[in-house]
Amino acid sequence: MITLQRFRIAVLFATLALGLAVSTVSCQKKPALRQVKQKLIILGFDGADPNLLEQWMNAGHLPNTRKLISRGAFQQLGTTSPPESPVAWATFATGMNPGKHGIFDFIKRNPENYLPEIALASPIPPRFLFGLIPIRAPRVVNNRQGIPFYKILADSGIKTTVLRMPLEFPPVELPNGKILGGLNIPDLRGTWGTFFYFSTDLTRWETGSSEYGGKLVRLETKDNAADTQVEGPINPTKAGISRISIPLRFEVDREKSQLKISLQGQEETVPEGRWSHWFHFTFKAHPFLKLHGVGRFHVLQTFPELSVYLSPINFDPAQPPYPISSPANYAAQLQAALGPFKTLGWAHDTWALNEERIDEKIFMEDVFETMGKNAQLLYHELKSDPADCTVAVFTATDSVSHMFYRLIDPEHPRYDARLAEQFGDSILRTYQKMDEIIGTVVQLMDASTRLIVVSDHGFHSWRKGFNTNTWLAEKGFMKLKGSDGKNLEELYSEESFFPNVDWDHTQAYSLGLGQIYVNLKGREKHGVIYQTSPEYDALLDRIIAGLESYVDPDNGERIIEKVYRGKDIFHGDQVRDSADLQIAFRPNYRTSWQTTLGAVPAGIVVANMKKWSGDHCASDPSDTKGILLSNRKFTSKDISIADIAPTSLRYFDVAVPPQMDGKVVELR
Ligand SMILES: [Zn+2]
Repeated sequence: MITLQRFRIAVLFATLALGLAVSTVSCQKKPALRQVKQKLIILGFDGADPNLLEQWMNAGHLPNTRKLISRGAFQQLGTTSPPESPVAWATFATGMNPGKHGIFDFIKRNPENYLPEIALASPIPPRFLFGLIPIRAPRVVNNRQGIPFYKILADSGIKTTVLRMPLEFPPVELPNGKILGGLNIPDLRGTWGTFFYFSTDLTRWETGSSEYGGKLVRLETKDNAADTQVEGPINPTKAGISRISIPLRFEVDREKSQLKISLQGQEETVPEGRWSHWFHFTFKAHPFLKLHGVGRFHVLQTFPELSVYLSPINFDPAQPPYPISSPANYAAQLQAALGPFKTLGWAHDTWALNEERIDEKIFMEDVFETMGKNAQLLYHELKSDPADCTVAVFTATDSVSHMFYRLIDPEHPRYDARLAEQFGDSILRTYQKMDEIIGTVVQLMDASTRLIVVSDHGFHSWRKGFNTNTWLAEKGFMKLKGSDGKNLEELYSEESFFPNVDWDHTQAYSLGLGQIYVNLKGREKHGVIYQTSPEYDALLDRIIAGLESYVDPDNGERIIEKVYRGKDIFHGDQVRDSADLQIAFRPNYRTSWQTTLGAVPAGIVVANMKKWSGDHCASDPSDTKGILLSNRKFTSKDISIADIAPTSLRYFDVAVPPQMDGKVVELR
């Protein structure tokens, strides 16, 4: 996955943060529940890699997984192109290729202005009369097209429970069933996870928004106390970006190295180096409108500096501003039974670790707390209200692999032997937690239940970034303003959103994770190439040939495995939104951070100096396959993530819709 923080998702989702209950009223008649002979449980572990799994299973680290497959199957699961989580989970759910479900990347570009937009959901803003009386409720539209298999099952009378499912915001309605959304639910600020760092060690110049979407707040102490503010969501009743803030107070006890945290009548004394419990945050937009969230503090240091971390403020499961579950009160029921849990789709605090405001220990404590809580939600359902079809997705395997690959790859620029000794087993420990979840689920299910464990893609080390736009500029496919062909070096810039690009003379540009778009007449605002002209195909041929033969100047090795034409890998009525070309990098390489948001910085191949050190998003699907485990055997070795949906339908004797691209795999 990718950082989208620098991109102002906040603005995009600003109008989301409205405390109006939007209920999904169904006119549909509930189908009668069907009796089934055998149940089905599908567990998803985002980014679990088959090679790491096999290695650790053979070493005896994953006993439950080993036991599961001793009577069943372990094979690689084909993934999508590109092998990215939103793309692959959309295919998992719908059984369709991206050309039909319409999700090609985390971000898409608006051809009207060449700016990135969130690809997964679109907000429709609310309207207020006199800035006070709501006259139109806000809505969120899920951009994933198609009908997920669990919806088809529920509509056919199969009792279905789905937990933390990516791209279920807002969630579909499951008659007789329950669903809790996952990846793509924003935080209360409308972003994919704005963390807060309050500290006396910040200078005035350091405060404000950080590169990957943190909020840095300078503290000033007086008599061992500091008063500050938590800046929350944008006030939807006001024009512009006016945020609602609430007061927060810290009181240091130096002798005991602990901190009293006071927020809106809640108080907790937390020792240095520890997490607080969950605090409830209430942001009042006006007398009738309150926005509710939950977040946790971590006391980093009490003396000589006072530094406190605050996690992103999640939608309060009991009172989310938008539906995150179906039925709408399902998330509240889970909270009543099990206490607060994270609702934010990007659940783990990768941005804070990437910016080095928290360390590895704190990050992993939070990962295990979150993964453990999500496991509790699943066990609770399996024990108290078992469904015939249960689907649960966990993302810790992905987040930890992104952040800790540097400690299992001694050739990574951020490899650190001391840290590797301490935290080099973090990915393994996350797989062991996955193994524990598999073991517990096997214990909780009856013997006839079929258990399938999948991941959406595998993983690679990411040592170097590729500045695709810089390459396009050097090769003359992109023109920079003021360029005479010789002075490119002085025109390069780290700035996002193509500030220096001369669109009237640019043939192609890159945005997102490996996508290249042609500056097309009739599609892009300043398009220069006709799609139907021979020039279009010739242009693609030249770019493909150039990229596929490009070698890393440091080692003389090719860095790009293949460049796919969009029309060759996607088919369906959403293809119009796909890129013209999709780059598939070899292991250790990926699109640079800067390219994803349209910068044209100096240098083509650059070392990845971030802790975010493993990746897969712009890799080749052929060497980035996911895992497929089961307690029974499959009849085929050639199974892809698109096959899970039709296979699950057939399992319950429900007809497979013709638009599904996946094939039915018979179960032995
Ligand atoms: Zn990922």
